[in-house]
Amino acid sequence: MDVGVIGAGIVGLAHAWSAAERGHRVTVFERSGQASGASIRNFGMVWPIGQPAGEWHHVALRSRERWLELSKAANLWVNPCGSIHLAHRDDEWSVLQEFHALAPRLGFDCTLLSAGQVIERTPAANPEGLRGGLHSPTELCVNPVTTIRSLPEWLTKTYGVLFATRTAITEIDSGWVTSADGRRWDLDRVIVCGGSDLTTLFPTVLAQSGLKLCKLQMMKTPLQAAGWRMGPHLASGLTLRHYRNFEVCPSLAAVKARVAMETPELDRYGIHVMVSQNAEGCLILGDSHEYDSEIEPFDKTLIDELILRELRAIVRLPDWTISERWHGIYAKHPSAPWFTAEPLPGVFVRTGTGGAGMTMAFGLAELDWSRWS
Ligand SMILES: Cc1cc2nc3c(=O)[nH]c(=O)nc-3n(C[C@H](O)[C@H](O)[C@H](O)COP(=O)(O)OP(=O)(O)OC[C@H]3O[C@@H](n4cnc5c(N)ncnc54)[C@H](O)[C@@H]3O)c2cc1C
Repeated sequence: MDVGVIGAGIVGLAHAWSAAERGHRVTVFERSGQASGASIRNFGMVWPIGQPAGEWHHVALRSRERWLELSKAANLWVNPCGSIHLAHRDDEWSVLQEFHALAPRLGFDCTLLSAGQVIERTPAANPEGLRGGLHSPTELCVNPVTTIRSLPEWLTKTYGVLFATRTAITEIDSGWVTSADGRRWDLDRVIVCGGSDLTTLFPTVLAQSGLKLCKLQMMKTPLQAAGWRMGPHLASGLTLRHYRNFEVCPSLAAVKARVAMETPELDRYGIHVMVSQNAEGCLILGDSHEYDSEIEPFDKTLIDELILRELRAIVRLPDWTISERWHGIYAKHPSAPWFTAEPLPGVFVRTGTGGAGMTMAFGLAELDWSRWS
């Protein structure tokens, strides 16, 4: 089958890989020279712990397996570092204890750590006020930039996948696509993975989808002192408000109420804080969430200051210098882990992975191609 994939972000590359493995002839269309959307702007956290129990969590774990497979096959850096959610307040500690008690029944593999045990696992945790942490072994750290930039070459070399870069697809029908410069390709199946572009292809379908755009501000430190490694990814008590897995915990309401009362500015900008460390040793810090009409092209210094204020309360880093700042935008579905549509026979839209595209894309692609094959 001739398969066309629109978009060379992580969702497009995942679909291209799964299709090529099944013996299909694949062409990926990317309007830029290199994809430079959400897929190169993220933390590089593959984060199954954040998904609610059941199908979403299974898809995330399947993605995790695929990342490990890809790491071996394409020689990509993937660090099975796991994660720790830190609790610096009693109400956060209650949520972690509750989640830990429910975890075996829900299918999560995690361990409750005392403050001392947290410190043994990571030199980055701030011991001041630390109640304890929740360790999960399933999280991976990947390098978004090198992955998105090197995967096309590997797909071409390994499976003969073709990449048409600087090619904006502007029209699609069952059986063909055309680009803005008038070229046409005949294709049996088309998968539209256009990320946050909701206006070029199938704008009516996407306008009715409930998808929202979300902007996140991010920062990066330079290389930390020689050889200093943080260990697992770190997430804050504030993060408990953000990921849906913790919604099963009745005590989460107290955390939300306290944050809303004490620090409403964090709710205003959707701030919770996390840290990852890349292969070189730089730390990636974030993040905030501003939606649709709130999104401006300019970043807010206040948001960066709030992120750093909250981070300083929970982690100790050898070097807090900020070497890079950027923002990213993703499309998010309000209630589903991704948005799917088949606007024409043989044409499939896959977007709306929100803050979990690095976590879900490979599992989603496998799910799709196992149904389509
Ligand atoms: C700051 C930030 C931090 C994040 N952190 C994490 C994290 O740690 N873990 C995690 O799991 N997820 C994270 N995410 C979410 C994740 O990055 C996204 O869900 C994911 O990258 C979306 O991938 P995508 O392929 O759908 O979109 P994109 O990466 O935006 O790719 C879409 C591509 O399609 C191309 N395109 C669009 N329209 C056309 C067209 N008509 N013709 C040709 N090409 C087209 C675009 O040029 C673009 O390259 C984060 C996101 C952001 C912004």
